[in-house]
Amino acid sequence: MAVAGTAWCGWCGVVFVLPDVLDAAAEHGVGHCPRCARPFAPAYASTLVGLLRAVLAGTARPQDHAALEGVAPHLHLQPDRNG
Ligand SMILES: [Zn+2]
Repeated sequence: MAVAGTAWCGWCGVVFVLPDVLDAAAEHGVGHCPRCARPFAPAYASTLVGLLRAVLAGTARPQDHAALEGVAPHLHLQPDRNG
């Protein structure tokens, strides 16, 4: 079974699937927590979305993960349990 990547919010601690961050853009703005609506990357929202899309597509490279941590330190990706 394909499982979407998950992450947890460093602000509110809630775990969510990464597509929720993209879906929340319409409601809270791009790059916000889908639960508490706080911004993960207020200055780099478009960069964040691009990186999340790469993670979801399975094309993210190690430097992309490092960049993600750099622009969104409160967005904590959880490693795949399948790996
Ligand atoms: Zn949150």
